[in-house]
Amino acid sequence: MKILLRFDDITENMNWHLMDKCEKLFDEYNIKPVMGVIPNNQDPILKSFPKRDNFWKVVKSWQQKGWEISMHGYNHLYNQKTFKKDYFKHGGRSEFFGETLNNQSDKIIKGLEIFKKNQIHIRSFFAPNHTYDDNTFVALKRSGIFEVIDGYGFKPYTQNEIKFIPQLFFKIFFLPFGLQTTQIHLNDMNEDDFNLLKDLIEKKNQNIVNYDTALSLLSDKKIDKLFNKLIYFILILKRKIF
Ligand SMILES: [Zn+2]
Repeated sequence: MKILLRFDDITENMNWHLMDKCEKLFDEYNIKPVMGVIPNNQDPILKSFPKRDNFWKVVKSWQQKGWEISMHGYNHLYNQKTFKKDYFKHGGRSEFFGETLNNQSDKIIKGLEIFKKNQIHIRSFFAPNHTYDDNTFVALKRSGIFEVIDGYGFKPYTQNEIKFIPQLFFKIFFLPFGLQTTQIHLNDMNEDDFNLLKDLIEKKNQNIVNYDTALSLLSDKKIDKLFNKLIYFILILKRKIF
């Protein structure tokens, strides 16, 4: 099976101590993760972390190394409640779900302008807290974004003209086949957590793929779509029980 590393909540303010350690490790093993950058972070919790002044230069240097820069929302402020009516039935609060199409488009356009100003190429998106509604996808498509790193499944798939690269589990969980996107929140990690990640990379670096390889695993075969539906029902049921 293949693993894609997705980092969430990348902003000027974050756990740079662990980020620097990760970067060294990734360079050593030639690992190319996906970095979910919040273009205009206003989230007060995230802002409480140490700030790096040359942030956009750092992001640019990651892109030049072949790391994938993805857009993780716009300001990371949760103004809406989903009541589990969001696209993936994830629940919780949202930056996008329930906002008008105009508001959602506005956020995406403004976010993309910030990336452009800093010469960062963006082709994919994932919303804070995994929460979307139909308008989110309309707004993304209008801005030329057709790839979303979220969803249920064992392989990337196409739905609603969007390529979804599934993100299933919060913890590193090995499947015997398919692609697993591992979500990493550096701000919630301590040294022990970092050592676990280091262990994974030392043992499984041959299985860790870059974003293009992950995308190339896309399958819209009936059997794969059936598996995706199955995992959707299992996870929804699990969330209802626990
Ligand atoms: Zn986030």
